[in-house]
Amino acid sequence: MGSHLCDRLLGDGCSVIAVDNLLTGRLSNLDHLRNDSRFEFRQLDVCEPFDCGPVDAVFHLASPASPVDYSVHGIPTLKVGSLGTFQSLEVARKYGARYLLASTSECYGDPLEHPQKETYWGHVNPVGPRSVYDEAKRFAEAATMAYLRYHSVDTHIVRIFNTYGPRMQINDGRVIPNFMRQAMRGEDLTVYGEGSQTRSFCYVSDEIEGILRLSKSTEHLPVNVGNPTEFTILECAQRVLAVTGSKSKVRYEPLPQDDPKQRRPDISKAKRLLDWEPKIDLETGLKMSLEYFRQAVAEETSSRA
Ligand code: UDP
Repeated sequence: MGSHLCDRLLGDGCSVIAVDNLLTGRLSNLDHLRNDSRFEFRQLDVCEPFDCGPVDAVFHLASPASPVDYSVHGIPTLKVGSLGTFQSLEVARKYGARYLLASTSECYGDPLEHPQKETYWGHVNPVGPRSVYDEAKRFAEAATMAYLRYHSVDTHIVRIFNTYGPRMQINDGRVIPNFMRQAMRGEDLTVYGEGSQTRSFCYVSDEIEGILRLSKSTEHLPVNVGNPTEFTILECAQRVLAVTGSKSKVRYEPLPQDDPKQRRPDISKAKRLLDWEPKIDLETGLKMSLEYFRQAVAEETSSRA
């Protein structure tokens, strides 16, 4: 998402400084910006104090975001959601910049309310395997609201629901990269549990549009930005098979602990306040991602050979 946000901001005429410790990100996603004089990349850890000079806006997207990544990097995930949020808020405070926190639908945990409205406080296991991410993001929301209340920073909080598209790591364990890679390699698609759990998938350009609109708005409380069309994971597997034309079969594997059973954003707030709603349905978005995934799978295969 970070590289797509950079593209969009540069396209809008901004200068951009991207900051990343590359724990789970890849510099190659920014290769095409290397010769743009309005773009700069700094490899640093936002958990430590940092200062890139005066800025108008800070977007804090730093964090492992896939369940596999944040289970491998549990403590860095907790740190970037807490220390990293403080350090990035300090930058916004110092320069009077507007601030946007990338929060998550995981704040709702395994939700008992469906679809999820921003007013729902969630159903989160604070000591389960997902807690390193869920609680870090919930803490990050609290820190962001505190900088609004105590330091008058112009803060915004977006709750991002499952987002996909080109430049995702094909091996980060998330469902769409997993299924695309498996389908293209002719391997079984690994459906966890019975595949009856649901998710709602937002194409990355829709997500970026919603985030930018929110960052320029006067809304300080969290806003859901996601696609409200809900699929079971089995339906998602079928969509991937159809779009890739793959003959792969489905293989059932155990459901990970605390895997949310259902997830769908109520986006009436984003519609009302930002005049935003997603435009790209799952089938279209998968088709738009095909070439990227094909190339990524081919590169992986040739580097293994
Ligand atoms: N999932 C699956 N097979 C996979 C990867 C994920 O069935 O190979 C399921 C997972 O159990 C979850 C959903 O797909 O119910 C979405 O998982 P993902 O890791 O993409 O993100 P989450 O929404 O859980 O954060």
